[in-house]
Amino acid sequence: MFPVLDPHHRILEREFFDRVGIRAVMTNAYLLKRGLQGLDPVDIHGTLDYPGTVATDSGAYQILEYGHVGVTPEEIVTYQEKINTDIGVILDVPTGFRSDPSRARWTVDETVRRADRALQVITRSDIMWVGPVQGGVHLKEVERSAREMAKRDFAIYALGSPTELMETQRYDVLADMIIAAKNALPKGKPFHLFGAGHPVLFPFLVALGCDLFDSAAYALYARAGRYLTPEGTQLLGDMVEFVCTCPACVDSSPEEFMRSRDKEDETRLVRHNLWTCFSELRRIREAIRKGRLWELIELRSQAHPALKECFNRITRYAEILERSTPAVKPHGIFYLGPSSDKRPEKLRFVSKLPRSVEERGRFVLVLPGRWRRPFHEDPRYESVAKTFDDHPRVSICFYSLSWGPVPIELDEIFPIAQTEGVDQGDRFVLKERAKQVSEFLGILHPKRVVLVSDGEYGRAVTRELSKAFPKRMLTILDGETLKPADIVKSVEKKLVRDV
Ligand SMILES: [Zn+2]
Repeated sequence: MFPVLDPHHRILEREFFDRVGIRAVMTNAYLLKRGLQGLDPVDIHGTLDYPGTVATDSGAYQILEYGHVGVTPEEIVTYQEKINTDIGVILDVPTGFRSDPSRARWTVDETVRRADRALQVITRSDIMWVGPVQGGVHLKEVERSAREMAKRDFAIYALGSPTELMETQRYDVLADMIIAAKNALPKGKPFHLFGAGHPVLFPFLVALGCDLFDSAAYALYARAGRYLTPEGTQLLGDMVEFVCTCPACVDSSPEEFMRSRDKEDETRLVRHNLWTCFSELRRIREAIRKGRLWELIELRSQAHPALKECFNRITRYAEILERSTPAVKPHGIFYLGPSSDKRPEKLRFVSKLPRSVEERGRFVLVLPGRWRRPFHEDPRYESVAKTFDDHPRVSICFYSLSWGPVPIELDEIFPIAQTEGVDQGDRFVLKERAKQVSEFLGILHPKRVVLVSDGEYGRAVTRELSKAFPKRMLTILDGETLKPADIVKSVEKKLVRDV
């Protein structure tokens, strides 16, 4: 994340950036040029007293606010080269939130024309140039814009004008826009989201494939006495205690912050807001390293209905996420209920399940897949599973709450054996799961089904199997009252009879 700095109003010192781990910042080349009118351009790192990576924006946001800027696309590119920027943006035309389709089409075309003009005057290849994608909420235009920009060789591609969507909390629409843009852009180039500054959104944006974002929110919010947290914004005046233990908050109180605000000192709140943003980014990186980004967005989606909406929208694109999810992760996954059903690992399992068992027309033994994993090591049913595991005529299938039907051939593979699940006692979920078990067994065209029923879930499976298979094919054994040895005897008797 590039914190956006005001080139004319510096409030944070270099040491602070180092301490927080901020390695890149952004500033506005257009405002800088306008503020220093008549003066020769000088190195931006000196102006900002910041030796790290500096990205410069071109004034496009000012077009959105005022309708025009007094600079040409060529001038602003040349200016960015002269001030030695590291990452430069061409002067695009933001679509904005309220543009109708024809205006959106024009902004896309005009941005492409300006990209071509800019590419003609660019002389420095050591600067990474950003190609902005426009189109606003008109997804077809976003996709067209991305396709056009993709034909032009930019080092970074960016999606423009989401700020108003974030202010109105239409995160679901934002998710659509990101997917539309990314679908048409080269996969190997970084993807930047302009003006995506609130930490509540970071995990969702990363899950959708955003690599970079910039933000002025930390400073704008501070000016209004607004305290950023990973779950949302709080008003300093409404708070009694700080939960945050960042260096700005740890020995202080909201009241003390308020008093210092009276003295025209906003920087404590600015500092806290930046610490919060960067600690959330660390949390996201750690989650990725541990393969737990999905758990993080599930958790964060509980913080606000708009985030839940965003999460639900992301689940619609789960197939796209599935393609970029590793087959094996260093840690197991948490199954937290129906919200986990759309996670990429689950989709992958469900899509591969029908092809996972080759043998059809067999005697199928259906056992409970309970808390112990792999399921065949469950102390209550271990001896039953062991007896029939290598039997030439028997297939074993477990019914698991997190995964539905799990053939014994799969119960040791990742992430089946590494899942921590929860039984929420939700009858609707049990019924859905039981249906999935029944549908899978249907694919196997079994000669006979013997179900060992255990608990509420076992009863739900009993009901579904009774609907799906004729009575003469189905045998139900009560796992809660029968001893394992009795279950084995009953199954053997059925096997003998079926010969
Ligand atoms: Zn803090």
